[in-house]
Formats: sequence, structure tokens, C-alpha cells
Amino acid sequence: MRRVSVLGATGSIGESTFDLLAREEVAVVALTGGRNVARLAEMARALRAEVAVIADDALLPDLRAALQGSGVEAAAGSAAVTEAATRPADWVMSAIVGAAGLAPGMAALGQGATLALANKESLVTAGPVILSHARAHGARILPVDSEHSAIFQALAGEDISTVTRILLTASGGALRDWPMDRLATATLADACRHPNWSMGQRITIDSASMFNKALEVIEAKEFFGVEPTTIEVVIHPQSIVHSAVEFHDGAIMAHMGAPDMRHAIGYALNWPARAPLPVARLDFATLGQLTFGAPDLARYPALRLAAEVMAAGGLSGAVFNAAKEIALDLFIAGRIGFLQMAELVEAALARLSAEPEFHRSPSGLAEVLAMDHLARKAAHQIAAQWGQS
Ligand code: NDP
Repeated sequence: MRRVSVLGATGSIGESTFDLLAREEVAVVALTGGRNVARLAEMARALRAEVAVIADDALLPDLRAALQGSGVEAAAGSAAVTEAATRPADWVMSAIVGAAGLAPGMAALGQGATLALANKESLVTAGPVILSHARAHGARILPVDSEHSAIFQALAGEDISTVTRILLTASGGALRDWPMDRLATATLADACRHPNWSMGQRITIDSASMFNKALEVIEAKEFFGVEPTTIEVVIHPQSIVHSAVEFHDGAIMAHMGAPDMRHAIGYALNWPARAPLPVARLDFATLGQLTFGAPDLARYPALRLAAEVMAAGGLSGAVFNAAKEIALDLFIAGRIGFLQMAELVEAALARLSAEPEFHRSPSGLAEVLAMDHLARKAAHQIAAQWGQS
């Protein structure tokens, strides 16, 4: 029987993965969560997992109590999350949010597992390191971000050298139709109202600021190995076309479907087969019309910063992501405004670009994590200088 693990099982992607796995004949090796002990234990019991790991080590007694009599082993701490990812498995879902997903994903690749990659931060911060680690261990990475899954599916059987454009669609997020002069006043509740997708809080806010799309552009460049100029972001409010690829004969292959992450997760789970999935079917007549537009770079500075990061290369992606994570923390805590998130990331990039390592390609995870640490410190210092941290 196929052995599978889910890193970040208690999150939004984790829940969708759980829903699909509960319908399959699989042996579940490890499930991990951050702090949600009750849900982790419930899932581990339902799927008869070998081990359940909670990242917060203070919660080990609670997890043990919740798993009592189940036969599921309990463990805690970030090292235990990474250790769980080294347990032999054929397929591992990487769905921890943020840079915390990096080391566990690397560990899964190190044991040769197929890694279903939802954690977009992995390729943004450490693309070359992760891809060469996967190659060295004969491991495969399958994209789970709906856009990257769409592109991957459009490229099936095609020659990448015939690609002229990758059209990465974006809903525009919760604040797409707000007047520019109101954006500075957007609250946490405003940024959390995504029009189409139901996702974790952090990615929903990143969709409103377009930092999510900025991360995806960098992720696409790394994963598909294309020039940044090949990737074009298109605003598509209905989130029906999940992305598209244009070839040199002018043909465009688009992937369409209901906005449901089980499309992309199910594709990665069953690849190279295409299995039936419990997702809503599209009715073109009911849909009526699909609309598209170009993004306004003044409204979405995150897209401009992504272009600068791709041009800079080296460890700039690690700085971009880490500063973005701190900016998001500070916005969620009500300590900086919506537009200040991009200002903070830009300031952190400017400050760290003076460091020689910023421009060097990382040779391993340790260098990425060291730069991640420096960038977080710099972002806090800058926010403190603004008198708001
Ligand atoms: P959620 O916030 O819903 O879930 C995140 C998961 O990570 C939870 O299981 C959480 O545990 C766990 N976690 C949080 N912090 C840590 C930590 N320090 N160590 C270990 N585990 C931790 O996020 P999403 O599911 O929305 O997103 C997960 C990843 O997938 C992100 O990288 C996101 O960008 C990407 N993605 C998400 C999509 C979506 O539709 N949601 C679409 C495409 C990509 P707990 O809840 O128990 O604290």
C-alpha cells in the first residue's frame, strides 16, 4: 500500500488533503500540525497514522492525552516535525505555512519521496538548493499551488523551449476594487475577505496585497526554469482559469475548474494518472463570462518587488520572503498598515542588498536560514525605527 505523510495537516491545504486521503487506500505515516492538538489527534485517529507531531513542544502532554489508547505515536517540536518527514513514505504533502516548511520538505526529498509542494516559500527562498537536493536523491516535486499545477498540466507532453508565455492568473484579492486612496486604511478583516477561495488567513491577506502572486511568480521561475520575462500576471476575478501557457505557434492551453484546492492536490496525489475527484463541475452557460485585465503595478508594489528579486538572484528571495512574513505578522498584530507591508519589505531588501551574501547563490539550507534570520531581524529593526514595533 502507498505510504503517505502530510506536513501541515491541520491547515487549509492539510484539511483538503485529509478529505482526499480519507477516500483512498493508503497507509498514513506522519501527520504534523503547528498548535491545533485537537484536530491533529482527530485526523491521526481517523487515518490511523503511525505518528502525529505537534510543532509547539509545550503541547506534547496535550497531544499524548488526546491520542491515548489510539496506538498513534505522539511527538513534539520542530526537530520532530523534520524527523517525521524522514520516515519512509512514497508521497509527502508539504503544507506548512512559511519558511518553517523548508527543512521538513528537504527531509522528505532526502528520503526520495515524491513531494507535493504547496509551501511556495520553499522555492522562493531556496529554489536551487531544493531542486538540486531533489535531483541528488531521485525525488520528484509536484506543484500544488493551483496556478503551478495548472501550468504543469498545460505543459504535459510539451517541450518547455516552445513556451512563449506563462499566464499566471490572480483574482486580485479582497481589495481589488477598492479605490487606491482607501487602501492605506484597510483593516485585517477587510484583507481577510477573499472573493473566491477559502484559504488560511496568511495566504488570504497575501492575496489582497498580491504578495501571494509575487511569491508565485518567483516560484514559477524556479520550478519551470523560465526567464522572468516569460511570466505574465493576469487579473482574472472569477478564479476559473487557474493559469495558462502560450506556445510558439500561438496556441494557449488553459486549465479551468472550480476554485477548489482538491483539484491540484488530487492531481498531485494521482499523477501521472487522472483520477475522479469530488469537486464541483463547471457549467459554462451558468458562468456566463470570464474577464481578464492587466495588474496595476502602483496598486500592487509586491509584483514590482518580485521582478527586482528575480533580477537580483542570490539570496534575495530568502530576504523577500522573511521580510514579508514579518510584515504580515505586524499587520495582523495591528502594528503596521496594509500598504506599509510592501514598504517594509522594500526597505529590508535595500538594507540587506549591502551584504555580499545577498548576491551569492546559496550552496545549502544553512545559508538560506542564516539570511532568513538576518532579514527578520532587519525587518523588525526597520519597523522599530518607524516607531511602530
Ligand atoms: P494554514 O495557515 O491554513 O495552515 C498552515 C499549517 O502549518 C497548519 O497545519 C499549521 O498548524 C502549520 N504550522 C504553522 N506554523 C508552523 C510551524 N512553525 N511549524 C510547523 N507547522 C506549522 O495555511 P494554508 O493551508 O493556507 O497554506 C499552507 C501552505 O500552502 C502555504 O505555504 C501557502 O502559501 C500554500 N498554499 C495554500 C493554498 C490554500 O488554498 N490555502 C493554495 C496554494 C498554496 P496549526 O494550524 O496546527 O497551528
